[in-house]
Amino acid sequence: MSEPTVSETRLFQPTADFASQSHLGSLEAYRALHKRSIDDPEGFWSEVASELTWMKPWDKVLDESDAPFYKWFTGGKTNITVNCIDRHVEAGNGDRVAIYWEGEPGDSRVLTYADMQKEVSRFANALKAMGIGKGDSVAVYLPMVPELAIATLACARIGAVHSVIFAGFSAESIKDRVLDASSKAVITSDGTYRRGKELLTKNIVDEGIADCECIKNVLVVQRHPEKEPFAHGWVEGRDHWYHDLAKNASDECAPEEMDAEDMLFLLYTSGSTGKPKGIMHTTGGYMVGTYLTSKLTFDLKPEKDVYWCTADVGWITGHSYIVYGPMQNGVSQVMYEGAPNYPAENRFWEIVEKYKVSIFYTAPTAIRAFMKWGDDHVTKHDLSSLRLLGTVGEPINPEAWMWYHRMIGAEKCPIVDTWWQTETGGHMLTPLPGAIATKPGSATVPFPGIDAAVLDEDGNEVERGILAIRKPWPSMLRGIYGDPERYKSTYWCKWDGKYYFPGDGAIKDEDGYFWITGRVDDVVNVSGHRIGTAELESVFVEHPAVAESAVIGVPHEIKGQGLVAFVIIRTGAEGDEDVMRKELTSMVDSKIGKFARPEKIIFSGDLPKTRSGKIMRRLLRDIAEDRPLGNISTLADPSVVEILKDKIKG
Ligand code: ATP
Ligand code: MG
Repeated sequence: MSEPTVSETRLFQPTADFASQSHLGSLEAYRALHKRSIDDPEGFWSEVASELTWMKPWDKVLDESDAPFYKWFTGGKTNITVNCIDRHVEAGNGDRVAIYWEGEPGDSRVLTYADMQKEVSRFANALKAMGIGKGDSVAVYLPMVPELAIATLACARIGAVHSVIFAGFSAESIKDRVLDASSKAVITSDGTYRRGKELLTKNIVDEGIADCECIKNVLVVQRHPEKEPFAHGWVEGRDHWYHDLAKNASDECAPEEMDAEDMLFLLYTSGSTGKPKGIMHTTGGYMVGTYLTSKLTFDLKPEKDVYWCTADVGWITGHSYIVYGPMQNGVSQVMYEGAPNYPAENRFWEIVEKYKVSIFYTAPTAIRAFMKWGDDHVTKHDLSSLRLLGTVGEPINPEAWMWYHRMIGAEKCPIVDTWWQTETGGHMLTPLPGAIATKPGSATVPFPGIDAAVLDEDGNEVERGILAIRKPWPSMLRGIYGDPERYKSTYWCKWDGKYYFPGDGAIKDEDGYFWITGRVDDVVNVSGHRIGTAELESVFVEHPAVAESAVIGVPHEIKGQGLVAFVIIRTGAEGDEDVMRKELTSMVDSKIGKFARPEKIIFSGDLPKTRSGKIMRRLLRDIAEDRPLGNISTLADPSVVEILKDKIKG
């Protein structure tokens, strides 16, 4: 049976204006660079690494002797914070703003690179005063305040391994991560704000670490140093106010000399598909990868750009594209503490206007929320400072892409749809703005140094199949903490160690563009037709009344598998459900084919999502099949599950 191929035909060429000023201004330039990087990866990556500061140069670029435990820049010594901060100060750019911080209630702070050098050093000395040193594991459970970036960098400064836990996670999730990483200390705050409400982070930490004997110290940052602290518990001897330790801490701290392969951090995946994995990243390769991807994907011009990535530092996107990548490039960036709809749904656009943001990087889940809230919140703001937009986290539906392009990008900003993972450390597939024409819904082409393919189970190249990465790359994970066997079996066994297996399905079209069709687990086989759930979801989102949709496969006696669709209607567009069902079904018929008609279309108010905003399709499958729910520790709002259970039965 023939498989449906990509039906999207819209193509957006880079504008001449953008191309003429960009780092890689033409398709030919991209092709030449990519070819060079694949023909001679070691030469290519060592040239990139040479743009950065090392205390001692590496002996070997890539060591493959213990594959798949690849090593990069072996023998090299450096400290990533030198490249994030000191290098810019020494080059005379200490006065450049590093962070424009905006608190949810409207308070704000501005930190220059010179300020960051002092603050990071002071924080690093406070950690040392608590007995933290090289190789120690430190959990960080902080809201999006400047101290989150500062604490992360302070750990790196002294060679401690940070394990950042998104400060929306429950006490139970903190406990799992602290125990898995054997963290010695936790850095937190007395509190923060979430949609106007106080969130008592310190108390959540207290509950989470109650039975964690590994934790010896808790360092607490006060959210409002000038006011009364938020209500909090206190354990004498274990707990310390950061401002107390900071009083006696010097604002100079020499960077620890780190081996290129010394661990930089541990970070747990978002848990869309199961129990989160503790992904390990090391110093040198991660440094080089995040430096180059930030520079080229976002076309960074540190002298003039104001960059804003709306992710939380608690996710890999915040590690690579708030803390390490942009700061290595010396750019000014916005950091925002709170929710996109507080006090109103225009908050993000107000911030873009206020700081004249030129580069804006967000997630499809946020874009779909903006669409749902309506265009009025956008149009009342001047967004003319924007010159580049980005997205990450999930496949973006073409209609959401078009909305982003029209409403936010004024049809002139290139959109970089970046496909990558916690495991990859940095961008893997992405258009390079100025060089690569974009197609709505496609992450387009491999980044320089990345050799990607679409394979079948047996390792043959096919048009529609499984995404595979052929060569190791510097910012790749070095393993799953404490479980080398799981590292090998999860990522390297599918094609006998020849390719990295990311777990995502993909299509490669006739122009060599990649389209991510969703998780391999989410490919549904209906009467022999392989349907990516993301494709069907994109059809539904084309309906003007639909804000968001999630499709899953369920067992079906005759077809093998059948489809169940969950659909969320936009605010104000609610109507007759049966009429709507008919309209959606006929869209499926014409866009994909009758074989892809869902067995059931369920209208719902919300969907189960991870705290990073990704739809948890595996939970929807459990609900649909009335099975006990798997790991739900990363679920954002558990009440959604009960409502959906009733809907399915009803
Ligand atoms: P877990 O591995 O625990 O299930 P997760 O995969 O959601 O969690 P992340 O590493 O944060 O954790 O997410 C990476 C995944 O997100 C990718 O494998 C892919 O499925 C999806 N993804 C990220 N960016 C894109 C993109 N631009 N287009 C399509 N999918 C994307
Ligand atoms: Mg994953």
